[in-house]
Amino acid sequence: MRRPIALALSALLLVVLAACGGDSEEPDDSRRSIVTAFYPLTFVATAVAGDEADVSSITPAGVEPHDLELTASQVRRVSEADLLIYIGQGFQPALDRLVPEVANTLDVLTVRPPGVRADDPHIWLDPSLMVGMTGTVVSAISRVDPANAETYRENGDELIARINGLDDDFSNGLSRCERRTIVTTHESFGYLADRFNLEQVGIAGIDPDQEPSARRLNEVAEIVQDNGITTIFFETLLPEDLADTVAAETGAETAVLDPLESPPATGDYISAMRANLSGLRTALDCR
Ligand SMILES: [Zn+2]
Repeated sequence: MRRPIALALSALLLVVLAACGGDSEEPDDSRRSIVTAFYPLTFVATAVAGDEADVSSITPAGVEPHDLELTASQVRRVSEADLLIYIGQGFQPALDRLVPEVANTLDVLTVRPPGVRADDPHIWLDPSLMVGMTGTVVSAISRVDPANAETYRENGDELIARINGLDDDFSNGLSRCERRTIVTTHESFGYLADRFNLEQVGIAGIDPDQEPSARRLNEVAEIVQDNGITTIFFETLLPEDLADTVAAETGAETAVLDPLESPPATGDYISAMRANLSGLRTALDCR
């Protein structure tokens, strides 16, 4: 089913680009329009842009971003923007397919840092990688709007200070714990685990659409029992039943660990990550 959708998008894009071919010469002082792929990138771009540019997310709140399909109006929003910020790495295949088609008419930025694993897009859950991504976003927004570059740099520095504070809190908060293994619904927390010396056991894989086998559920239950794990983490955008199944089999509890693939119900990336830290500290018995 992927192929016809991609073809339809291509055709649609040609129509959209033809329709707006005449008014590409905007005055230099007009506000820039930045489209971001999904929440963590929206969070960074909004903080960096401040009052000087417009930022909107292509993935609606509450929608699981891995399997995003693009509507005609979403394609139009991307093609009319000055800058598209996305992850790549096959995280959102529909968006990845659109990028080469719009790369000639607007700036596109992948925030993927060099050297990260090719098979895991969840870079935003390591605060130190978020610091690097913020610097990358500052450069890209400044490139499409050089007149406000100084403001973007200041806003970026402010955000980087907040994220560095978060990183310190994680390092300190997870330094002395009884256990270091976390069980998650899908494997979103690999980079976070690497950064803070934890071990992640995902019930489902990196892509949450892949249903785990009965054998995998049994394996995870065994790991839980062998390691005295007390908490199975689930996430708000995915069905709770996987975590419930393992919890019921092992006597463990369930708790939320938010992979922040969508805006948190309250607060922002920083406060939701602090809530994640608190949940991890409880689950791992940290002092
Ligand atoms: Zn994910």
